[in-house]
Amino acid sequence: MTDSIIIAGAGHAAGQAAVSLRQGGFKGRIVMIGEEAYLPYQRPPLSKKYLAGELDLERMYVRHQKFYDEHDIDLRLSTRVERIDRSGATVTLSDDSKLPYDRLLLATGSHVRKLTIPGHDLDGVHYLRNVADVLRFKDDFTAGKRLIIIGAGYIGMETAAVGISTGLDVTVLESADRIMARALAPEVSVFFDEVHRAAGVRILCGRDPHSQIIGDGRVEAIRGADGVAMPADLVIAGIGILPTTDLAEAAGLECDDGIVVDEFCRTSDPHILAIGDCTNHPNQLLGRRLRLESVHNAQEQAKTAAATLCGELKPYNQIPWFWSDQYDLKLQIVGLARDHDQVVIRGDFADRSFAAFYMKGDLIVAVDAVNSAREFMLSKKLIAQGARIEPEILADTDIEFKDLANAALA
Ligand SMILES: Cc1cc2nc3c(=O)[nH]c(=O)nc-3n(C[C@H](O)[C@H](O)[C@H](O)COP(=O)(O)OP(=O)(O)OC[C@H]3O[C@@H](n4cnc5c(N)ncnc54)[C@H](O)[C@@H]3O)c2cc1C
Repeated sequence: MTDSIIIAGAGHAAGQAAVSLRQGGFKGRIVMIGEEAYLPYQRPPLSKKYLAGELDLERMYVRHQKFYDEHDIDLRLSTRVERIDRSGATVTLSDDSKLPYDRLLLATGSHVRKLTIPGHDLDGVHYLRNVADVLRFKDDFTAGKRLIIIGAGYIGMETAAVGISTGLDVTVLESADRIMARALAPEVSVFFDEVHRAAGVRILCGRDPHSQIIGDGRVEAIRGADGVAMPADLVIAGIGILPTTDLAEAAGLECDDGIVVDEFCRTSDPHILAIGDCTNHPNQLLGRRLRLESVHNAQEQAKTAAATLCGELKPYNQIPWFWSDQYDLKLQIVGLARDHDQVVIRGDFADRSFAAFYMKGDLIVAVDAVNSAREFMLSKKLIAQGARIEPEILADTDIEFKDLANAALA
């Protein structure tokens, strides 16, 4: 009998889990403990509309305080879970109190990889993971300021788009030979590169990572290995994230690039589950284990774990999807672009609306859809069902995509 559930972490996955637990009929005690000062909120706007000043934090909450009050969810914010005692089934909090649990749900998310280059600790060097990070640099994120972004991943390029649109002078430094290289096919990467350059962003790829940040207490410039110093008023680094597994590891739970869970979100301890960015989980549809950094995964694993905790075993089986907003471009990505042997482009880059299909033979393994909601929606089904389309037919834009998809799905 499960009477009390403690949720460690109060981010997106945690907020969704609390909602799903009550929707699933769980009547026992729920205590959610989060080290941030805010109600569980959605992070994507941090590098998009919130950064641009177009969205208030209240509109990013997973649920408002009223929901937690009405559903008897005990939220302890600005509080850390410091330790798990598995033999006593208790957690110790940063205020030194101990709380007992019947089941513990770890939703500790991930944290940014930090720079280690000289000058990394100067004032004016920032990261972008949470509201506090944005508030730290928001006063400097104003027209005319010189911003250098280190890392041309999604967060770096979204920040570049907002920065240039806000009137900052923006330079992006990337060690790979193209932007968003980890996720996008070269042709899609080139498309985004051209859009950013046309907007005024300076992009320097293939940069030696051994640069240094210089300044007297506060950042003044970044000097590359070539000795050239680029002046900067602020630096924002987006060089990847790491799963937050410290609690789980200290408690002896199995971890391997994330907290290892099964398809029901159960860890190596039957009383402890884990969800969201912090997990390494199996995906039967893809036939392998994954660690994902996405809202879709956070939400769906939260629902799976809530079902497990309510006594209903529903395996987590989802084709991953993700999105990124840059300027007027909505990039929607479904599937994982690995093991493909060719990329088929449908649509026209000049129209700023196209889809890139990553094919393994006649199997679609992933799709990058730019301002192409229909291609994205139908591709979710095509990939989940392992549908097959000959690449030559897929490339033929005289045939409507919906007809192609419907025929393949039939
Ligand atoms: C700037 C930005 C833009 C993004 N854009 C997109 C996007 O466009 N599309 C998309 O799909 N995804 C996007 N993501 C990723 C998405 O937001 C994450 O995948 C999602 O937030 C993961 O949810 P989570 O609950 O697992 O982790 P988190 O949201 O990171 O929540 C974990 C929480 O646990 C807290 N915590 C950790 N350890 C402890 C502890 N010991 N005690 C108490 N609290 C603790 C953390 O402080 C944090 O508040 C973006 C992320 C960022 C940062």
